[in-house]
Amino acid sequence: MTTLQQTSNEVQVAKDYVNGVIQEVKKRNPNEPEFHQAIKEILDSLVPVFEKQPKYMEAGILERIVEPERQIMFRVPWVDDNGKVQVNRGFRIQFNSAIGPYKGGLRFHPSVNASIIKFLGFEQIFKNSLTGQPIGGGKGGSDFDPKGKSDAEIMRFCQSFMSELYRHIDQDTDVPAGDIGVGGREIGYLFGQYKKLRNQYQAGVLTGKGLGYGGSLARTEATGYGTVYFVNEMLKDKGLSFEGKTAVVSGSGNVAIYAIEKLTQLGATAVACSDSNGYIYDKNGIDLALVKQLKEVERKRISEYVNYHPEAEYHEGCAGIWTIPCEIALPCATQNEIDEESAKTLVSNGVIAVGEGANMPSTLEAIDVFLNNGVLFGPAKAANAGGVAVSALEMAQNSARIAWSFEEVDGKLHDIMINIYQQIKNASEEFGYPGNLVVGANIAGLLKVADAMLFHGII
Ligand code: NDP
Repeated sequence: MTTLQQTSNEVQVAKDYVNGVIQEVKKRNPNEPEFHQAIKEILDSLVPVFEKQPKYMEAGILERIVEPERQIMFRVPWVDDNGKVQVNRGFRIQFNSAIGPYKGGLRFHPSVNASIIKFLGFEQIFKNSLTGQPIGGGKGGSDFDPKGKSDAEIMRFCQSFMSELYRHIDQDTDVPAGDIGVGGREIGYLFGQYKKLRNQYQAGVLTGKGLGYGGSLARTEATGYGTVYFVNEMLKDKGLSFEGKTAVVSGSGNVAIYAIEKLTQLGATAVACSDSNGYIYDKNGIDLALVKQLKEVERKRISEYVNYHPEAEYHEGCAGIWTIPCEIALPCATQNEIDEESAKTLVSNGVIAVGEGANMPSTLEAIDVFLNNGVLFGPAKAANAGGVAVSALEMAQNSARIAWSFEEVDGKLHDIMINIYQQIKNASEEFGYPGNLVVGANIAGLLKVADAMLFHGII
């Protein structure tokens, strides 16, 4: 018979184990605040797993999972249009391959550093596991700023970046994709260089490719659509829907644009979106065709929107977007864009559901505000997993040398998002945190990877 005393001992042992690993990570990886934040968010919620299943502790699962299998940092020299030599830093982190080849995007943004790539790579392990697809966790990028660069400069940078990366990736080893600053154009240049250096047409070595050379229909839409499908499941569970709701979506990139498209199709109205300079507020509903034209085609600033819609407002700065009253909030720009204060404002303005389209857009304090106030909260690793899930479907099509229709891929994406929701809801209930999808996602994501690591032995 288990006594109360025994149970509290088990809880304490599990807590001490988790805290010990968190402290060790901080000691070993100093000056990496984003990585520490991701580690704390995930590890704290795993205590119930180690309490119930000490076998994972005995196998040192946590100590192993927090240490990347491989981390590559490299010089990326290139020549700008004025003939001047520029040098950037490239990163690829191959975090965990227990359930499949490393998989995760490349981010080109001046803020990129080892801490950011590590937080993204670590989160990716759990996210990829939740998709049910056979993909491990990885991430990469560079502190290169694509903004204001000519097409030729982008090409030369991508070629130089791949001139080092190609020796570390392969369709069965590590499969990068896009992320902030890396879209179809960049993937095209990266793929061309890989093909040239390897003298092999490995269609599955990168995802997010153009449709003409191995890309999947619905990949462009997948992350934004998937986030909305996920939020729809949270709403449905409470007898609610998108119909007639007001939404605020930050960002105006790939994720934001297709989140707005899908939520509009489901009957909601997006009234605001943003870029890294500021946000627009259009009470009549965002003119998505114009946003696509400005951001996808002309690569202009979102401030230009008001030149076409003078009745809309433009505000400098990003945080103000969360002061706009809404029932649905979808942060789809970048990490830590919703802090405690913004979360409190959203709550007092009546937000019902928050779906994280971006990676780690809410601070730990903001998440607490949402959870403590009964807001339906879809954490990034679940809510935005649709992108990588369809990347895995792109790999499957590449391996089979076939191409599915848009409807087929979108249908599979929809099923995957429903399945993720059910999986993490069940895990949250099974481990004693009903309604807490943050805990549910971390636990469900871990279990599959941890079991595979147990099977593989200590490696
Ligand atoms: P894009 O580069 O297409 O768009 C990013 C958007 O966010 C742009 O509007 C950009 O503005 C804005 N932004 C970038 N940095 C900042 C910042 N520091 N402050 C405020 N706004 C900023 O990227 P994605 O849409 O692909 O990615 C957005 C988020 O979604 C990221 O967190 C990414 O990791 C995550 N994600 C993306 C997936 C995908 O499939 N693309 C998959 C899963 C997650 P500006 O134009 O001024 O740079």
